[in-house]
Amino acid sequence: MTMPSPRNGLFDLTGKVAIVTGGNGGIGLGMAKGLADAGATVVIAARDAAKGEGAVMALAASGARSGFVAVDVTDAASCRGLVERTVERFGRLDILINNAGINIRKAPESYTPEEWHRVLDINLTGAFLCSQAAHPALCRAGGGKIVNIGSMMSIFGAAFAVPYAASKGGIVQMTKALATAWAKDKIQVNAVLPGWIDTDLTRQTRRQMPGFHERIEARTPAGRWGSPDDMAGVAVFLSAPASDFVTGAAITVDGGYAAQG
Ligand code: NDP
Repeated sequence: MTMPSPRNGLFDLTGKVAIVTGGNGGIGLGMAKGLADAGATVVIAARDAAKGEGAVMALAASGARSGFVAVDVTDAASCRGLVERTVERFGRLDILINNAGINIRKAPESYTPEEWHRVLDINLTGAFLCSQAAHPALCRAGGGKIVNIGSMMSIFGAAFAVPYAASKGGIVQMTKALATAWAKDKIQVNAVLPGWIDTDLTRQTRRQMPGFHERIEARTPAGRWGSPDDMAGVAVFLSAPASDFVTGAAITVDGGYAAQG
């Protein structure tokens, strides 16, 4: 049987240019691979240049046009520089995936103000600063797509991750607000709420909490952890013409985790 090509109009990203923050590994790289397979040029944006160049090589190996730009999403000038360098090098910007994120796991009573701000600054303010920086270029392209990465903690409480949960709850509300503001510019803004995905971020949690891996497996209807590759399809959908009337949505990609009471 012949598999349908992803480049069939509704899901075709040929000629589009995308930025994926935190695209040098984990979920970001999984999404970047999906966008590249659908025909997009992908700019990997993060702090670690060696890891970034590795991701670019992985994308180039499958024939994609790709480049690395260093960014710290907490710095507004750095976010503006990311968009400028992307447009200088690749001519335009159509898609922004706000994926950069961290977690600091602690009991709520023991966070320092600096730790609280660090998580909020990267996960929430960083997504806002990149969106703000991208807006003029997306308008010049005649419209575009912004995809923000939330979490199961956009929905559920988490005793050990209060600033993370606050940042990911904020991502959903920021998504709705930006979707409302920029619909007139033909920019669709949506959020993806991943379930538990096997990445460096969750490897750290699993090391700290014996039995956690098994508990997640048992709680997830699909009976397994997700992989970064599981995030590719939703990234393509929310970046492609297929989602042109979808905006302000928060889509769970979680093997049914959030559906189960
Ligand atoms: P990773 O740790 O693999 O990826 C996080 C990425 O963010 C890294 O590539 C890192 O690159 C980048 N990053 C961190 N701080 C900054 C910064 N200041 N500026 C620019 N880039 C930064 O984890 P995941 O792939 O798991 O996480 C990706 C996103 O998915 C995060 O937003 C996370 O909260 C979210 N998520 C993850 C889930 C999971 O189960 N794994 C579940 C739900 C949501 P560098 O250090 O080089 O800057």
